[in-house]
Amino acid sequence: MGMMWGNDTMTKEKVLLNVEKLTKVFRISRGVHLKAVDGVNLYVKEGETLGLVGESGCGKSTLGRCILRLIEPTEGIVEYDGQAITSMRHKQLRQMRREMQMVFQNPYSSLNPRMTIMDSVKAPLDVFQVGTPKERIEQVVEMMKIVGLDESYLYRYPHEFSGGQRQRIVIARALMPRPKFLVCDEPVSALDVSVRSQVLNLMNEIQKEMGVAYLFISHDLSVVKHVSDRIAVMYLGQIVEISDVDELYDNPLHPYTQALISAIPIPDVGDKRERIILTGDIPSPISPPAGCRFHPRCKFATQRCKTECPSLKALAAGHAVACHLY
Ligand code: SF4
Repeated sequence: MGMMWGNDTMTKEKVLLNVEKLTKVFRISRGVHLKAVDGVNLYVKEGETLGLVGESGCGKSTLGRCILRLIEPTEGIVEYDGQAITSMRHKQLRQMRREMQMVFQNPYSSLNPRMTIMDSVKAPLDVFQVGTPKERIEQVVEMMKIVGLDESYLYRYPHEFSGGQRQRIVIARALMPRPKFLVCDEPVSALDVSVRSQVLNLMNEIQKEMGVAYLFISHDLSVVKHVSDRIAVMYLGQIVEISDVDELYDNPLHPYTQALISAIPIPDVGDKRERIILTGDIPSPISPPAGCRFHPRCKFATQRCKTECPSLKALAAGHAVACHLY
């Protein structure tokens, strides 16, 4: 495994996933390119949740897909359990996919409407030929219990279920090969607010029971706060801050993180936290600003910020920030 910043807290638990300098460039048209992910470094430990937060279009979903090689990264390394999956061939990658699954945002389009729930949830076991056909059915029945759905639902079709139930089914399917790592891309954003916390609680319970690690992607910092051990903040393709969850909320360092946190509604009326309103539009990722990408919206920007891109530096145990103020 290569060198990682801020790794002083990593020694206690094993690093499961390590990402170094991951970059994804899309060609939009002749001579026009979009750097959706730009030199990202991060790690995820066994059984933990790393929240990945940022505004829509910041590259967080592309990063999640590149990590699983659902889309090919342009540059960089992804290591899973010490093995470089970025250089794996198709057959080896296919085996690795048992351990690394993805839960997508929209439970309405994630399930084949013509397949029963049994067939959908069992599909990953069929693909990997796990056990006998009878054992696979038994495993699906067991998984339905884990995600809190009645066994009698198994021979019904997706349209018979609510959004929350469908997302439970999608989670059950992702868990069937007993993965150690899940990328969850906005898993509750399409759900009614009333069922969000149920699905988030379920994901927490599953993590405790099965020890699965999550990369939890969301635009909503208040959702991420509830599920994450650590949080990475992304802005225009780059990680600008990464920290333990409590430290990030109590002591946000990057001006962008400070603005995001200040925008979270506060239930405590006695809290006098000042709300920071971000001015200016998010710049286009096709022609991002020079220097610090946040400088056109940052009230602390100096001349240096306009020309020199700050690198991510560890300031304290497990807390790193990319900003010239530090
Ligand atoms: Fe603001 Fe400069 Fe820090 Fe960027 S580097 S966040 S522009 S102070």
